[in-house]
Amino acid sequence: MEKLSEYRRKRRFDVTPEPQGGERGRGKGARTLMYAIQKHMASRLHYDLRLEWDGVLLSWAVPRGPSPDPEVKRLAMRTEDHPLEYADFEGIIPAGEYGAGTVMLWDRGSWMPEGADVSSSLRKGEIKFTLQGEKLRGSWVLVQIRGFGEGSRKSTWLLIKHRDEYASTKDITLEEPRSVRTHRLLAEIARDDGGDVRRASQGDPPAGRRPANNAKRRPSERKNAAKRKDRGRSE
Ligand code: MN
Repeated sequence: MEKLSEYRRKRRFDVTPEPQGGERGRGKGARTLMYAIQKHMASRLHYDLRLEWDGVLLSWAVPRGPSPDPEVKRLAMRTEDHPLEYADFEGIIPAGEYGAGTVMLWDRGSWMPEGADVSSSLRKGEIKFTLQGEKLRGSWVLVQIRGFGEGSRKSTWLLIKHRDEYASTKDITLEEPRSVRTHRLLAEIARDDGGDVRRASQGDPPAGRRPANNAKRRPSERKNAAKRKDRGRSE
């Protein structure tokens, strides 16, 4: 797929565990559009916001992560479109590869554009949308502030929460630092999957501010945790 050429050019799929993409069609029956955020401890910590549109995941790197506070504007750099398969990716990108470091699935769910035509909103540089994630909900906007025009793949946007019942001043990246898929911290993903634990732990909240591990764990994840324990890796 033409849209994924930049994504594929940057990666060696015999080295990185990231998906090559293009295998999963969503079919006409898919009623919702996927939404995901990956917390990515690469050369710098950032949060990758991904919104499914037209067969790919539109992507923005948000250095400080999303804020549910409407007063707070977060910088969001547009990055290359990612394959739909990326929406559940969590793991280690090996040293020396593009984006090397630890990737956590920080939030997931679905999104709904508030305007009728997303492609035209993208061109105009203002996308209003509603998130139905496990952590983020309600109405948001992405507003482009720099880098308009066809060749501007690295355009600069702001991610802002609209005022609604989901707005809050909670420091959500600090209070909900764990994976929605495996409930692990970055350091735990690195430890389990053979990454750089020390480096990954720099993206986790300081030890004194970490919420309990099993607060929101689901039955299926408990089973997986038990399996991990069986293999001698304590949670
Ligand atoms: Mn990234």
